[in-house]
Amino acid sequence: MTPALDHTRRLLDTPPTPPIPGQLDLTSNEPRETLMPATDSDDHIEHQWILTHPDSDHDDIYIDLWTDGYTVRVEGGDGDDGDRGQRDVDELIAKYTAAGYQRARDYAVNDPEPSDAPEVEAAEPADRPDECPECGSAIEYQAEHAAHGRSGPAWLCLGCRWGEWINP
Ligand SMILES: [Zn+2]
Repeated sequence: MTPALDHTRRLLDTPPTPPIPGQLDLTSNEPRETLMPATDSDDHIEHQWILTHPDSDHDDIYIDLWTDGYTVRVEGGDGDDGDRGQRDVDELIAKYTAAGYQRARDYAVNDPEPSDAPEVEAAEPADRPDECPECGSAIEYQAEHAAHGRSGPAWLCLGCRWGEWINP
């Protein structure tokens, strides 16, 4: 796995962000330690700084500040993670800019809950009738059936369209 892919996979665990130029640079095959979240809570990356070096021999460096306010993860460079939050970030940026890196990008990562996520359909209740009481056809679960001026979860016959509201 390339560092770029590794990084991309981590981003998949966080909300979508705008495409980052050069992020899918697959030319480097150096192994890199897989970074795990600090905890298995819902902490996530809150702010990310991306440093690039004009010399293409140097991989980009990603500095992530997590929402817990102190966890700092670094991909690339010396791999010097920290736990002092913004102080570490400032020191890391100072260290790497002194080494010739440039701050290419600096942005707050989106809220962890995408507002345009589709609503999760209500789970089907366990007691689906085996067959339609009217015609014996199979019964289908409808999470949002609409009929007779109301809507909601219902059982619906695939044959004769017999239906029954699940929540009377
Ligand atoms: Zn039926």
